[in-house]
Amino acid sequence: MALVVQKYGGTSVGTVARIQAVAQRIKKTVQQGNSLVIVVSAMGKSTDVLVDLAQQITTSPSRREMDMLLSTGEQVSIALLTMALQELEQPAVSLTGAQVGIVTEADYSRARILQIKTERLQKHLNQGEVVVVAGFQGISSSEDLEITTLGRGGSDTSAVALAASLQADRCEIYTDVPGILTTDPRIVPEAQLMNMITADEMLELASLGASVLHPRAVEIARNFGMPLVVLSSWSDAPGTRVVSPEPKPRSLEGLELAKAVDGVEVDIDQAKVALLKIPDCPGVAADLFGQVAEAGVDVDLIIQSIHESNTNDIAFTVAQRDLDKAEALAKQIAPKLGVTVGCQDSENTEVRADNTIAKVAISGAGIIGRPGIAAKMFQSLSDEGINIQMISTSEVKVSCVIDRSQCDRASEILCQVFDIDSSSLVAKSPNTDVDHPAVRSVALDRDKARVAVLQIPDQPGKAAQIFSALALNNISVDTIIQSQRCREVDGQATRDIAFTVAQGEAQVAKDALKAIINEIGFRDIAIDNAIAKVSIVGSGMFGTPGIAAKLFKALAQAQINIQMIATSEIKVSCVVAEDDGIKALKVIHETFGLAGNTKIQPES
Ligand code: ADP
Ligand code: ASP
Ligand code: MG
Repeated sequence: MALVVQKYGGTSVGTVARIQAVAQRIKKTVQQGNSLVIVVSAMGKSTDVLVDLAQQITTSPSRREMDMLLSTGEQVSIALLTMALQELEQPAVSLTGAQVGIVTEADYSRARILQIKTERLQKHLNQGEVVVVAGFQGISSSEDLEITTLGRGGSDTSAVALAASLQADRCEIYTDVPGILTTDPRIVPEAQLMNMITADEMLELASLGASVLHPRAVEIARNFGMPLVVLSSWSDAPGTRVVSPEPKPRSLEGLELAKAVDGVEVDIDQAKVALLKIPDCPGVAADLFGQVAEAGVDVDLIIQSIHESNTNDIAFTVAQRDLDKAEALAKQIAPKLGVTVGCQDSENTEVRADNTIAKVAISGAGIIGRPGIAAKMFQSLSDEGINIQMISTSEVKVSCVIDRSQCDRASEILCQVFDIDSSSLVAKSPNTDVDHPAVRSVALDRDKARVAVLQIPDQPGKAAQIFSALALNNISVDTIIQSQRCREVDGQATRDIAFTVAQGEAQVAKDALKAIINEIGFRDIAIDNAIAKVSIVGSGMFGTPGIAAKLFKALAQAQINIQMIATSEIKVSCVVAEDDGIKALKVIHETFGLAGNTKIQPES
C-alpha cells in the first residue's frame, strides 16, 4: 500500500461539481489500495476575492489580519471536500493547518514551515480515513499560536512538506493544465507538455515566473528527494515528473529553514573579457555572441548591467585556453559593433582581457527568497579583504568573480561559513543528457522592478552592506548584477550594482538604502518598474555554445532591446522593457522550437 499526498488547486475545487469530481478521484485511488492525505486550496479565485475585500477597507492592512482573513478560504474547501467524500461513503476528516500541527515561523504572509507533527495525521490514516488538510496555512511555534500563511500559491509547499514529513511514497499536484509545459499556455497556447523535468530546472522556472509550482515546494522535494508529479485534475494522463538528485541526509526539524546552501563551487579555469562603452541598441549582444559562438568559444558567465547614457558594458568569462582567441575576436568586432545593426558607431569602445580571475559560487535550493544568504556570502568575502569584481545570480546560485590568488581562501571561508564539507567542493561538468534539447522552457516575470545603486566605492564590503540592509528589511532580491565598469569619481574608483525585486518592495528597498547612503557612500539610487524578465532554462545548455547568442539574436530580430543580462549554467535571463515582455516570450519560444502542434487550453 502506498502513502500518497495529493494537492488540488483552486480551479480544481472551484465549484461544487468539481469538488464532487475530485472526491470521486480520491475514492478511486483509495480503492486501488492507497492511503491518502489531500491538500486543497481555496475555491476558484476566492483568495483574490478576500484580498479585494480587505483592499476596500484599507490599502495597508496589517499582515496579521490578512493571514487571519486569507486562511479562511482553505477552511471552506476542506469541509466541502470532506462532506463530498463522506457522501460517497469514504471515511474522511478535515483538518486545518493548526490542527495538523504545521508549525511555522511567526512571519505573517510568508512564513516558512519549521516542522509538521505527524501523530494526529497518522492516527486518522491508521483508522482508514482520508485526511483533508488546508493548504497555505500554519500556526506559529510561539506561545500565542498565531495563524500564519506561507505566501500566495503556498498550498503546493504545504503538500510537499507533508509528503516529506510523512515520508510518503510520492506527492501529486493536480492543476488546470496537463502538467509542466514549455511555457505558460495562457500566453503561448502552442506550449508543449514535458514528461519530465529536473528539480534544478524547475526551481529556476518556478522562481522566474512559471506559477505552476511554488518554488519552495520544489525546494523541499529536491532537498528530501520526494518524487513529485504535476498533472491535470481533468484527465488520467501521467503529467510531468519532477526528478530530484539523490538527496543528502537532512533533518525534518527546521524543515524549510535548515541549510540553505548545499554546495560551494570553485572554478579557477576562468578568464574575463569586458567590452566597455558599446552602443545600447538591439542586435549588439546578438552580433557579439553570435561571432564568439561561431569561433567555437564557449562562454560561461555573461553580465550586462544597467546602462549609462547610450552605452553599455558587457563582460563574459571563458576558459583560460580560449582567452586569447576571445580577446582577439572582441578587439576585431568591437569597433564595428552596432554599425551593422544601424546603431551609432562605437569608436570609444574599449576591450579589456583579464587572466587573473576565478569564480566562486554558493548553490542551494534554499537561496531563493532568503535575502540574508547572498549578504552573508559577500560579508564573509569582505571580512577576508576579498574584493568582488563581478556578481551574477540565478535563483539557486550566487557567483562572484574574484582575484584568482584569493580563491583558495575564499572557498575555505565559504565552506566554513555555510557548513559545507570542503572535500565536496564541486566543479560542474557539462550535461551529457542528449535526449533533451539544450533549452527546455521559457518564462516571463512581469512582477519585478529594477533597482540600480550607482557609483558605489569599489572596495570590499560594499555589496555586503547593501544586501545586509535589504535582508534586515526582509526584502527578497532575485537577479543581482554587478557591472564591469569601474568609474573614477573624485579620484575614487566606483561601480554600479543592479538587482530586481518584487514591484511592491522596490520603494522599501530604495528607502532602506537611502537611509545608509553616507555609510555606503554611493551617489544615487534609481527604480524602474516598467521592466519584464524573460528567461530560458535547460540543463543541457551548459557546454552547448551559441545558446545565448541565439536568444539575443531572436530578441534583436524582434527589435527588442536588452537592458540587463544574467546567466548561470542552466539559464539565461534578460531584462527588457515591460511592453516587450509578451512579444519576447513568444519569439523565444518559437526560436528554440518549443512549440507543439496542438494548442493547450487551461481549464477555467
Ligand atoms: P493551481 O490553482 O492549481 O495551483 P496555478 O494557477 O497556481 O494553479 O498554476 C497553474 C497555472 O500556471 C496554469 O494555468 C498556467 O497558466 C500557469 N503556468 C505558467 N507557466 C507554466 C508552465 N511552464 N507550465 C504550466 N503552467 C504554467
Ligand atoms: N489560496 C492560496 C492562493 O490563492 C494558496 C494556493 O492556492 O496555493 O494563493
Ligand atoms: Mg498554484
